[in-house]
Amino acid sequence: MNSLSKQAVIEGLQRAKAAKAQQWRDELPTWCPGCGHFTVLHGLYEAVEKLQIPPENLVVVSGIGCSGRFPFFIKGFGLHGLHGRAIPIATGVKIARPELTVLVVGGDGDGVGIGGGHFPHAARNNLDLTYILLDNSIYGLTKGQVSPTSPVGMKSATSPYGNIARPLNPTTLALAYGATFVARTFSKERDKVSQFILQAMQHKGFSFIHDLSPCVEFNKLITYQSVDDKVVPLPQDYTAGERSRAIKMSESADPIYLGLFLEENIPTFDRNVQEVKERLKK
Ligand code: SF4
Ligand code: MG
Repeated sequence: MNSLSKQAVIEGLQRAKAAKAQQWRDELPTWCPGCGHFTVLHGLYEAVEKLQIPPENLVVVSGIGCSGRFPFFIKGFGLHGLHGRAIPIATGVKIARPELTVLVVGGDGDGVGIGGGHFPHAARNNLDLTYILLDNSIYGLTKGQVSPTSPVGMKSATSPYGNIARPLNPTTLALAYGATFVARTFSKERDKVSQFILQAMQHKGFSFIHDLSPCVEFNKLITYQSVDDKVVPLPQDYTAGERSRAIKMSESADPIYLGLFLEENIPTFDRNVQEVKERLKK
């Protein structure tokens, strides 16, 4: 088989895979062509298809931003909430209806900017939610302002002389806050994004995915190429069980490590709430 026909076979298989996941699609995504968010949406389609989650049992909650449009594009219940308030909404849903699969999807501005106060509490409480943070290091929906994950020196609509604030690192924050599943992915690597979304949704507890998702329209500094130049998988001898090592590895800016940093199993907050309710009935 020559390389061209091999490529055609691979693309055919990918199309078939995507078609299989069609049944979970809703409105046609309105993102710019090439936006990193498409990869995550595709990964989500694949995960719900593999887990066979019926739309009536799926709840996707988002805040504001380009990633806030997620709930429109997947069949299920959706809540497009206030800026930065997706986690509190999802917390209420999960505690009231623990049998539902609840996902939070949001951007860097939404998640560690205005919503940054909610993230530590969902993580430390080990709520059984999956939180996917799509990090493009910019406010994309409002056309390119510096965000809490923008690097020092980055020029933007609100930093014409270069960003002077140090960036936050969402992976490190999740680990420091006590999240029980923490992975970092890159939107260029479709299969790995799908694999980690599936794993995160299977995890019992607060699972966090920090996806590096370039904004092709407004961020000319953090691009597919600039990210690709820095990312490497976690070392082969790395095991996802030791938090202090995970934090150290997550802090590296060059190389930027991708993969599963940590996974541990402890009781979830929603299960503890149910136990208290049962106790009070006696
Ligand atoms: Fe994606 Fe950026 Fe376009 Fe928003 S503005 S849809 S983040 S490429
Ligand atoms: Mg952003």
